[in-house]
Amino acid sequence: MRKNLVAGNWKMNMTLQDGLALVSEITNMVQDEVTGSAVEVVICPPFPFLASIGKQLPTGGQFHLGAQNCHQKESGAFTGEVSAKMLQSVGAEYVILGHSERRQYFREDDELLSQKLKAALAAGLKPIFCVGESLETREADETFDYISKQLKDGLFHLSNEEFDQVVIAYEPIWAIGTGKTATSAQAQEVHAFIREQIARAYDAEAALSTTILYGGSANAQNARELFSQPDVDGGLIGGAALKSRDFTEIIKSF
Ligand code: PEP
Repeated sequence: MRKNLVAGNWKMNMTLQDGLALVSEITNMVQDEVTGSAVEVVICPPFPFLASIGKQLPTGGQFHLGAQNCHQKESGAFTGEVSAKMLQSVGAEYVILGHSERRQYFREDDELLSQKLKAALAAGLKPIFCVGESLETREADETFDYISKQLKDGLFHLSNEEFDQVVIAYEPIWAIGTGKTATSAQAQEVHAFIREQIARAYDAEAALSTTILYGGSANAQNARELFSQPDVDGGLIGGAALKSRDFTEIIKSF
């Protein structure tokens, strides 16, 4: 179901104490300011904080818990890894998959991501699947081909029912953590293209009902303009998700 959604990706930042304080500030501010209850908010802390942060989130409302990654297998001898089922068992509802940092630093390719998607869905998690081009790809005018391949190879193997559960995040790599945001026109152009590709792979209804987020140096100043684009349904937020005031402003930007 298409919805307005803001997800905060904390990456490998914070202590549990900092995280609990941040969540308490955000939930208080959001409630005090009676912000868009139609906006779903997903908090994605590091694995060790999930259960505690989840307990601190108001239940039954707009706040949800997400993880930043999962292993592709359900269980077994994979020292140091965390399965989708484990995430679900501590209250996670979402999991980010295919983030460019995972693709780049941990060599996660489309084949592996396909397996992770299946594992997440089998455990009842909703994947937030990231795609996005490098600066080199954009400058070579190959953005659309690149994203189309990421979608085809990584995502479009899912059945209609499985695909229904997926949120897509368009995250141009050149905009992540750089302070260089895509213009709202650049974001809209790619989001519309992604919707077109979904219509081709599935159908028009699937295209219209998929939530597509923008990620890449989104902040309290530019979120409103980005979210006002017809095909931008919200944001996957990194740096600005670590500051309560900024993140709350972004949640209010619809
Ligand atoms: C991200 O890493 O998903 C992200 C969007 O980071 P930032 O907002 O810091 O660019």
